Amino acid sequence: MPQRSDWSDQPCPIARGINVVGDPWTLLILREALSGARRFDEFKRRVGASDNILAARLAAMVADGLLVQRPYSQGDRPRQEYVPTGAAADALPILHAYAAWSHAHRPSSTEEPVFTVSCRTCGHSTDRVEFCDNCGAALEVGNVVWARPGRWQGRAVNLSAGGPPGVDQGRA
Ligand SMILES: [Zn+2]
Repeated sequence: MPQRSDWSDQPCPIARGINVVGDPWTLLILREALSGARRFDEFKRRVGASDNILAARLAAMVADGLLVQRPYSQGDRPRQEYVPTGAAADALPILHAYAAWSHAHRPSSTEEPVFTVSCRTCGHSTDRVEFCDNCGAALEVGNVVWARPGRWQGRAVNLSAGGPPGVDQGRA
């Protein structure tokens, strides 16, 4: 699947990380997995990837330990859903870094309301990547709420790994 060299043996840890969580589709799938997507059709709708691209990335993410498959049944057909692992949860600061960098260097004129990261410990929003600048709590899965623009407007999503997401209603 990769159209580049395998960087898994690179001495630089940035390169080894990019090797696993540097692909754009993988990052978008990760964003959706941590905000509650579990099933193929959910990822397809939220990410907008073709079936081939999505199937290949999901398989790679399972092989790389970012997702685990869990069976569920819909009608008579057994199916697999994809649950983010601890390794996926640990990638949350990477996604927060993209958001913070984009707010600084690629602001959007149409992003309304703005994407915000909120700390559940104190309830404040923050532009930081790893720790809340208001209370110092770690910005990790389980302690972070995202409010997202576009069709996500009005919903705040509690990020989670390994289980169903919590959704708070009525936040901007
Ligand atoms: Zn806080």
